[in-house]
Amino acid sequence: MSRPSSGIAVMPTRRYVNEAGRGWPVHVFPAPGELLSSWLHRLALANGVPPQYFGRVLRLTGTAWSGQLDRNLPGHVLDLLVEQAGIPAGVIAGLALGPDPLARLRLRLMIKPPKSIASGLQPTRMQYCPACLTEDHAPYFRRSWTLATRVSCFRHGRRLRDRCPSCGSGIVPSRQDRLLPQHVCVRCDGDLRKRTVRAEHDVQKFEGLLDDLLRLHVAGHRMPGQTTLPALLGATCFTVGTEPKSIAQLSLRDRQRLFRQLAEGSMPLHMRPDSLATPIWSRIARVAPTHMGLTKSLTTKIMARTVAGRDTRPARAELIDLMQTIGRLHSDRRAS
Ligand SMILES: [Zn+2]
Ligand SMILES: [Zn+2]
Repeated sequence: MSRPSSGIAVMPTRRYVNEAGRGWPVHVFPAPGELLSSWLHRLALANGVPPQYFGRVLRLTGTAWSGQLDRNLPGHVLDLLVEQAGIPAGVIAGLALGPDPLARLRLRLMIKPPKSIASGLQPTRMQYCPACLTEDHAPYFRRSWTLATRVSCFRHGRRLRDRCPSCGSGIVPSRQDRLLPQHVCVRCDGDLRKRTVRAEHDVQKFEGLLDDLLRLHVAGHRMPGQTTLPALLGATCFTVGTEPKSIAQLSLRDRQRLFRQLAEGSMPLHMRPDSLATPIWSRIARVAPTHMGLTKSLTTKIMARTVAGRDTRPARAELIDLMQTIGRLHSDRRAS
């Protein structure tokens, strides 16, 4: 300490690192089902850095830095996050999408948009449920919203949205250059949480069966042979305009239209009949109306066989849980 003749004392402050330790000052724990990029944006905001600049903190370049990490999280970035964010490696890695058995069905990120940047439109296909964002304490984006097979929210029964309701731009929270939460549009500051209409009942049934089948696939109940259900569904070609596209390349609006047509039992006009998986889409649509009834009756039978005293409250029937329980009951029977 020095005391100059003016009488003003100059005190050297303690080094910041001694105050804050090695990690970033604010720790943010991931929310249930949260996508890695969403957690990174919230982590950045909590520590006073707008998401657009947080990529540089992680030594990454480009404005789509967080979307790329969702698909591919390099080891050196994971190590840095573990060290600085105070969250175990397994938890952080679990937020990313890769390695991903459903990769063929994830919405494609358009990293290099054509003319959309110049026109002010955003290139992303990020979709979300406004009602979920409204309920969140700190709005966050879910991993399940990255699937092209999802067009509505199972929790709220409402359609998803992929554009700002005020200005029509895509959803790109990684471009936020101010300290604003993720429900604020990056382009116009509008509120993204404007409610959407209810999803059609038949479309939800179709979507629910698709979701169950994909869960079975992820859990290891796969079709015999090399071709997987996600690969077949993801390889189907749809002709929109003049271009053939996979479901992962279709807009939310086109997928909503496609699912509605399938649920109504008609062959979608733009589904190519020569595609290998065309009959599979149609078969799933045919079974979907009775699927929930079948799941319910299976649940009732399985519940009746559970041991007295156990919690037998009827939860939402998950096909994968039922399959596992049936397998267990069969092995019990063989053992007895
Ligand atoms: Zn929702
Ligand atoms: Zn907007």
